[in-house]
Amino acid sequence: MSNITHGLRSHPAYKRYQHILGRCYNPNDKAYHNYGGRGIVIEHAPWGVVEGHAGLIAFCKWWDAQPGTDEDKCRLMIERDDNNRGYSPDNCHLDTRTVQNRNQRRNIRVRYKGQSRLLTEVYDDLVLRGRDPAVSCQAARHRYQQLGWSLRDALFTPPLTRDSRIMYHGKLKKFQDIYDDLKTHGKIPDGLRYKVAYQRYFMQEWPIRDAFFKEPDRRNGSEARRITIKDGERFGRLVIIQELDKVDGRRMFMCICDCGKSKIAQLKLLRDGRVKSCGCLHKDMLRERHAKARLERGV
Ligand SMILES: [Zn+2]
Repeated sequence: MSNITHGLRSHPAYKRYQHILGRCYNPNDKAYHNYGGRGIVIEHAPWGVVEGHAGLIAFCKWWDAQPGTDEDKCRLMIERDDNNRGYSPDNCHLDTRTVQNRNQRRNIRVRYKGQSRLLTEVYDDLVLRGRDPAVSCQAARHRYQQLGWSLRDALFTPPLTRDSRIMYHGKLKKFQDIYDDLKTHGKIPDGLRYKVAYQRYFMQEWPIRDAFFKEPDRRNGSEARRITIKDGERFGRLVIIQELDKVDGRRMFMCICDCGKSKIAQLKLLRDGRVKSCGCLHKDMLRERHAKARLERGV
C-alpha cells in the first residue's frame, strides 16, 4: 500500500487532488467559503472514495486520460461545468485557459447567446442597448461566481430580499429555513439574531459559516456602526438630498446627479464607490471608449 501512495505522490495530478480536498473540506483553506462552505465537495464515487486511496487513484486515471502532455495539463484549470455541482468526472473538464488568466477574476467568461463572452462585455452591451441590469457588474459577478446563480438571475434579479434562497451543503434552501434549522439544533451562538446573520451574509458578504456561527458583537447591540450622512454630501456625481426608509435593512438615499436626474442609491454602494452617478457616468465612459475605438480604426 505504501508503495502505491509513494507512487501517486509524484503523479502530476496529486497536488491538484490535494488542492481540491483543501477547498472542499478544510475550513482554513482560503478558498473554502467558495467551495465546501457552500456545499461544493467531491461527489462521492469515484473521486470521493477514501479507502485505499481509491479516490486519488481514480482522479489520477482521469487526468492521464485527458488529452495533452502533463506539462501542458499542469497549466490548465479543472473547471466544473455546473457551478452548483461538486467535483466528479462527469462535471469536470480541463479548461483550455491558463491558470494565470483565470486568476484575473474580473475576466470571467460566461455563455451568452450561445457564445463565450467576458461578463464585463455582456454587461456593457446590455447597458448600451438600454436593458440595464438590476445590479452592478461586480455584484452580478459575485452572484454568478460565488453564489452560483445563473447568468440571467445574476444580472436581472433585483437586490436580495428576505426569502432569498442560497446553496447550502449542496441544496438550494431559504436562508430563513437554514437559520431556523441550525437554531433548533442549538448551533447558532446565543444572541445571534436572524437579522444579524442575514446582514452578515447578504450585505457584508461574509462567508456562510461565519455568518451563522461567529459570536455576535454585543458592545452596541449592532455590528453595523451607524454612519452619519449629511444632506448635500457628495459621492462622485451624486449629491445626497435626503435619507429614505430602509429597504430590507439597507439604508437608502435620494440623490441628485450632476446631469440633473434623480437617483435612489444604497448607502453601502455609495460608500464603496460602486455607485457614482445616475448611470450617466458609465454611459459617458462607454461612449468615449467607442468613439476612441472608431477613431483608431479611422472610421
Ligand atoms: Zn447622471
